[in-house]
Amino acid sequence: MTAGSSAEARLSVDTAATLNDVSVVFGVKGKRVVALDRISMELRKNEVVALVGPSGCGKSTSLRVIAGLSKPTAGTVQVNVDRKTRALGGFSMMFQTPSLLDWRSVLGNVMLPLEQRDISKAEARQRAEHLLERVGLADFQHRRPYELSGGMQQRTAVARALVTDPEVLLLDEPFGALDAITRDQMCVVLEGLVEERSMSVLLVTHSISEAIMLSDRILVMSGRPGRVLEELSVPLARPRELDNRLDKNARELEARMLTLLALR
Ligand code: ADP
Ligand code: MG
Repeated sequence: MTAGSSAEARLSVDTAATLNDVSVVFGVKGKRVVALDRISMELRKNEVVALVGPSGCGKSTSLRVIAGLSKPTAGTVQVNVDRKTRALGGFSMMFQTPSLLDWRSVLGNVMLPLEQRDISKAEARQRAEHLLERVGLADFQHRRPYELSGGMQQRTAVARALVTDPEVLLLDEPFGALDAITRDQMCVVLEGLVEERSMSVLLVTHSISEAIMLSDRILVMSGRPGRVLEELSVPLARPRELDNRLDKNARELEARMLTLLALR
């Protein structure tokens, strides 16, 4: 991540994060694994971008680089998150597995990211309760995670990811482990939450329909080392419903994505 304020100042105010010619090379048992090869992408403020591509093409690595968890071997990363709000969780990340604490209630798990922050316990609780209601878990807030279904656990993780009101939300195949019906339900929940907040979202997914349902732009990546093959805009108004996926232009988009992905 570029540390200097001058580099960040050069970013457009409309930009949340950019990768500029970023390469990431891992050394595994003396062999070089090129995960990303001079990839560039931009996440604008308040937009949802989906990264779709074959397994191992560097999608998670791209997210990790933006979050500052991995360093690029070459190229630069710029992030335009307000330093003041960063303390309250300018970034939030969510993964395929919810990683909830079994010894805490659902509410306790959602409040966790607000602990040690400059926010009263009453406000933390209010925020967590509001989000649990939005994800349909108001009646389960005093349960423990192991008493919930997989989908409900992931709803809890969504609430936890949003409780800090992040400027940038990084989602790494958040619903990848769920069955198709639950996955669709989660898509609807997340779409509603994204719609009502000002937040930039980068979503990694294997699911073409999830990318179409949730994002404004889709970056289709090649196989490893990942490069952006094509950038596609999603021509669907918001709020979106699941059956928007059957619209003519959504189906054309799906066909284009299938063609691009099949080439690899
Ligand atoms: P994706 O999320 O698209 O499936 P990843 O970003 O996880 O892909 O990985 C891209 C490539 O980099 C893969 O070949 C993977 O094995 C390799 N890789 C990822 N992280 C590491 C690491 N920490 N050490 C070595 N190789 C890694
Ligand atoms: Mg991955």
